[in-house]
Amino acid sequence: MNTKLNVFVCQICGNEFQTKANHAKFCPNCRLQAQLERNKTHQHNALMGKTKTVGSEQTCPICGKNYILIKGSQKYCADCQKKQAIKSSVKSVSEYNKQNYERVVFHVPKGSKQKLREFANEQQMSLSAFVCKAIEIYAKEVKNNKN
Ligand SMILES: [Zn+2]
Ligand SMILES: [Zn+2]
Repeated sequence: MNTKLNVFVCQICGNEFQTKANHAKFCPNCRLQAQLERNKTHQHNALMGKTKTVGSEQTCPICGKNYILIKGSQKYCADCQKKQAIKSSVKSVSEYNKQNYERVVFHVPKGSKQKLREFANEQQMSLSAFVCKAIEIYAKEVKNNKN
């Protein structure tokens, strides 16, 4: 153990100070200040999400679960990431629909909307696709009956 005190000049305040360490740039006072500053910046960066490094553990802001960061761009846990991706694709689907489809509002007897939707789901169709298909089939039938 080296118990000899070395004298250094602090690079921040310029005061001489003594320490047992072999290398020291700052007096204990300034070192403490520098440490506090670093902590503050670190906390600030953590708040701003700048300290996200791949492989580090992050807390999902949606479900609060901890997850391991796989990509730098990853903001949520794998589950929520998936849900978010679906959400954004749904958004673009509705944009697509807006450009390519017209909206028809019609009324069905109370309680049958759910049944229609379930039936459509069984055919792996959306309610709209199912209604369009039903109309198409009905129109064909009417046409065939006329012939
Ligand atoms: Zn100092
Ligand atoms: Zn999550």
